[in-house]
Amino acid sequence: MSTEITYRDYLAEENLPHFWCPGCGYGVIVRGIATSLAELKLPKNKVVVVSGIGCWGKADDYLSTNTMHGTHGRALAFATGIKAARPELTVIAIMGDGDTANIGGNHFIHAARRNLDITAIVANNYCYGMTGGQFSATTPAGKRSSTTVAGNAECGFDLCRLADVAGANYVARTTVYHVRQIPQMITEAISKPGFSMVEVLSTCPTFYGRLNGMASPIEMLKWIREYCVTIEKFEEMTAEERAGRLAIGRFIDQGRPDFMTEYVRLNGNDQIAWESLLA
Ligand code: SF4
Repeated sequence: MSTEITYRDYLAEENLPHFWCPGCGYGVIVRGIATSLAELKLPKNKVVVVSGIGCWGKADDYLSTNTMHGTHGRALAFATGIKAARPELTVIAIMGDGDTANIGGNHFIHAARRNLDITAIVANNYCYGMTGGQFSATTPAGKRSSTTVAGNAECGFDLCRLADVAGANYVARTTVYHVRQIPQMITEAISKPGFSMVEVLSTCPTFYGRLNGMASPIEMLKWIREYCVTIEKFEEMTAEERAGRLAIGRFIDQGRPDFMTEYVRLNGNDQIAWESLLA
């Protein structure tokens, strides 16, 4: 009998089949997470996956690590508490675009700034799938949702640029079309001390797809293939060529000391009485 650790060791197979629509990209991302955990051979009882709410918030049901199903937009708040109390654990926050950029927007930028050793895996499908396809803070300008039927008058956040300027140590983006890149980036992100973010552009054929002329999963995957270019190619493009395209790849990989390291460097193991600093 083989004792090799595989992604299946990290799946809660008793909860399958999953709840998502046919053609939803989320199963691909769950497999990517499980593959990374297997590659890193992380003991399941040393990993905590914290979720938010929405279709992607169901993902923790399908993982056999420790999991915590949080509230909308607060996955990073719970993850921060877990990591601060139990620094030896690998803490992964899984969030949708609403979780990350709308309801949890403030948690996201401050988690990146604080640089606590947490990995955020953001599944971005440009809409609120579970509640009927409303637009989110990442829906691109001009695109339709159930609440922007004539097109979105706002522009969407670029989550990678946001994480970058807020101070994250590792920032990367891939898609559910680029299946093999998902575990590669997640493995790098988990291995990197400090705050890491991997954004995975995902398919929601049920809402974003149908509302934007891509009713089938195949059409959505073809769209992703055309829409996304590598960072290297993107940088060579003119502003005109870049319009309506999305760069994927590794944006940031830096070694800023993570929060715990910095805190101990500044404080040692002793509490500093603030009155002593007033002399
Ligand atoms: Fe996936 Fe969209 Fe269906 Fe939700 S509504 S499960 S995001 S395809």
